[in-house]
Amino acid sequence: MLAWRSMSERLESYLNGAWRTGDGDTATLVNPATEQPLAEIKSVRGLADAVAWGREIGGRNLRALSFAERGERLAKLAKVIHGHRDELIAIAIANGGNTRGDAKFDIDGATAVLASYAALVPTLGASQGQAPWLVDGEAAPLHKGAKIRAQHVLLPRPGLAVHINAFNFPAWGMIGKLAVAFAAGMPVLSKPATSTAHLAARIARIVLDSGVVPEGAFQLLLGSAGDLLDRLGPQDVVAFTGSADTGARIRGHQRVLATNARVNIEADSLNAVVVGPDVASSSELFDLVVRDCVIELTQKAGQKCTATRRILVPSALLPELREALVDRLRAIAEKTGDPADDAVRMGPLSTKQQLADARSGLADLQRHAERVLGDPTRTEFAGVAPGVGYFLEPILLQATESAAQDPSAAFHQREVFGPVATLLPYDGTIASAAKIVALGEGSLVGTLYTDDREFTASAVASLSPWLGRLVLGTEKLAGAALAPGCVFPVCNHGGPGRAGDGAELGGKTGLAFYLQRTTLQGGAAELARLLGTPASDA
Ligand code: NAP
Repeated sequence: MLAWRSMSERLESYLNGAWRTGDGDTATLVNPATEQPLAEIKSVRGLADAVAWGREIGGRNLRALSFAERGERLAKLAKVIHGHRDELIAIAIANGGNTRGDAKFDIDGATAVLASYAALVPTLGASQGQAPWLVDGEAAPLHKGAKIRAQHVLLPRPGLAVHINAFNFPAWGMIGKLAVAFAAGMPVLSKPATSTAHLAARIARIVLDSGVVPEGAFQLLLGSAGDLLDRLGPQDVVAFTGSADTGARIRGHQRVLATNARVNIEADSLNAVVVGPDVASSSELFDLVVRDCVIELTQKAGQKCTATRRILVPSALLPELREALVDRLRAIAEKTGDPADDAVRMGPLSTKQQLADARSGLADLQRHAERVLGDPTRTEFAGVAPGVGYFLEPILLQATESAAQDPSAAFHQREVFGPVATLLPYDGTIASAAKIVALGEGSLVGTLYTDDREFTASAVASLSPWLGRLVLGTEKLAGAALAPGCVFPVCNHGGPGRAGDGAELGGKTGLAFYLQRTTLQGGAAELARLLGTPASDA
């Protein structure tokens, strides 16, 4: 494994066709396990030229490529990034506090989105060759017997896609969003979260040095967002991932309101799992529940928007599930430490502030739930001196059945962004489970573990409106199941309510955010000729 050098370097933004350090505030990026400084970023002031350059030059160059050609370039980018995998993993370990497994999850996740959209895009535009549009659905008569048809077409918006990302997935966050915008034909200006920007900055340089991306189609802004949002125009879009507070600020920004620039928000989420009443403690399905909950609590030290925060379990099964989870989590607590050591199974939180927020959130959760595992004040961890690093060992809490139904309980209100989850006992009916899940006010993902088909059907009907994705775990598929926090490019990513009401990825549907849907009204034969669609009804 490559060890990342600990010398401090100055990271640069790429704006308006040039690499530049800013002249604004300075931020120091650190290794969250050792607290050693790694790099510096200076924010850039005045982004009007970069926004205009991306919109005009980047947009023109990108739209000069067909959908299929853009797909080919995405495939090349996946290969280029994959070629730097070991170097990137080392950076993620140093600046993100990632274990090697965590780092691969982020970096391989990024190349997987590129590869997935590379494969999808040529199939979208195939029938239209070089046409700049996608034909959406079939032409419909305006009314019964009408000669005039309505046909929807989708065209890339001639604006700039502003991408603002959270600290927890610097690779997947930046590249996943870029892949979809690029495929659709919109130039991107990407702003990673400052604290973990080292990985994003390195990937951006690899992408830009590769020559695969046309001039202007990808810019990188390090440091604060500055006046970026003040420069938005009506064809621009903002895809944001981060906290609900920042999301609300972006949604309410005066320039967003004035221009109706499109906004997609991916925010906090109190993801729940529901263990069905038929799950027995000696079953493979029970083992799957335990495995998934442990992964979701500890992967990336629980700093995942899709991590499980609430575990709904029939009251009778709670003692056995608690015991199994405590056993497995205790083993990981013993191997929590500096992830530069391959034996470490969980690293630190990403920043000092995240640790402080997680501890204060825990105090809040403990007003309504009892801590059954973990000590939030622990200061000794593997590979570092006592008191060094932003570590939090896995914490498991347990509420009573009546507290679980209390809408004001903190575990239904506050996302503690760390290795923390709460066991919530319920009476084993889907009606109770659905009420409790809904108290989270909208989540990215929910998981159901049951082999009871009636329970499943009722759960799909009652839970789905509160979720962006529902994972169905069954005994038969236990061996093949993947942990629910893993987001595949073909799946919708985004959830209603608290989760931001956003929608990213999801294969073809993810492109819609970057495309304008326009209805063409005209004669059937004329539309078919123009669009190259079958003329059977002309
Ligand atoms: P955050 O503090 O809201 O920051 C997110 C991004 O917004 C960062 O790039 C940040 O820049 C930027 N930002 C902050 N203030 C801004 C402003 N006024 N205008 C424009 N940009 C601004 O969130 P975070 O702490 O990085 O991320 C943790 C949160 O993200 C958690 O709540 C988690 O649930 C959520 N998350 C959600 C998803 C999802 O897909 N739903 C995925 C990952 C994370 P600086 O870093 O420079 O401050």
